[in-house]
Amino acid sequence: MSNFQPSRPSRQMSASELRLRQKLREKRRKQRQRRRLLLLVVIIIVLIGAVFLVGKLLNTSDKDKPSNAKDSSSQSISSSQSTSAQTDSSASADTSPQSQQTEQNGESSSQSQQMVDVSTTTNTNDWRMILANKNTPLPEGYSPELTTLQDSTLQMQTEAAEAFDQMREAANATGLNLMACSTYRSVERQTELFNAEIEKWKKQGMSQQQAEEKAATVVMIPGCSEHNTGLAVDVGSITNQRVEEDFEKEPEFAWLQQHAAEYGFILRYPKDKQAITGVTYEPWHYRYVGVENAKAIKESGLCLEEYLAGQS
Ligand SMILES: [Zn+2]
Repeated sequence: MSNFQPSRPSRQMSASELRLRQKLREKRRKQRQRRRLLLLVVIIIVLIGAVFLVGKLLNTSDKDKPSNAKDSSSQSISSSQSTSAQTDSSASADTSPQSQQTEQNGESSSQSQQMVDVSTTTNTNDWRMILANKNTPLPEGYSPELTTLQDSTLQMQTEAAEAFDQMREAANATGLNLMACSTYRSVERQTELFNAEIEKWKKQGMSQQQAEEKAATVVMIPGCSEHNTGLAVDVGSITNQRVEEDFEKEPEFAWLQQHAAEYGFILRYPKDKQAITGVTYEPWHYRYVGVENAKAIKESGLCLEEYLAGQS
């Protein structure tokens, strides 16, 4: 039994074993091929990943530098808008090149620094000195912490709101009736106002482009308005809330001329600076910059654009 039995199956097994081994070998070869392919795919994926990462790293390190370039590109866009704007009534259209000039001066010249002899008292990194004008839109996502004014439903940036409340109290203690007529405006609200102005001019027969250019001379381009900063306030008196030029005849205006700086506010668009601010004289529009800055700016006799140009 032991001789016979194993002999037959062994011959049979060797045949089937051969087939099996062949199959196994083929299987292993295929497995090896698959593994090699998989390895290749993994290497390719890793390589792509590495290239992507390096690219991203290069990009972010670039981003740090051209924040200026980005600003200047948006400036050139808006300045081209303003230079193409019609040269009617408002001082803004023909003055934007000048305000650009002062900006350029600020970058290099020592002349402009001599102009400002109080430069040591102010820090241009001071957030309260943020500039918003038609050449300088606010950074994207700018959103100030807001506080509602006392005796009002209007809101300002918290520190500016506290300063305004103190100023109003001080003025009103002398028998005046200082009040805030317009304060913080979100960029969304500014966009609504701007679009409404465009529609107004289109109804009078202007093309879209003409209407946009005209609107930009009346309403500040969204993101470029000081009211978007939360640091600006249009001041009126109980008897004159119209925010018109005759506010300068009110005793409230005279008081502000004397005392606003003590509370950190400056007259933002003076009569003799229209060519530089690009905005017509607004005796009612005050801007919070902090007490030290306000006093230094008042003493210098410069507007904010000029003063900042002398700082950098
Ligand atoms: Zn205003």
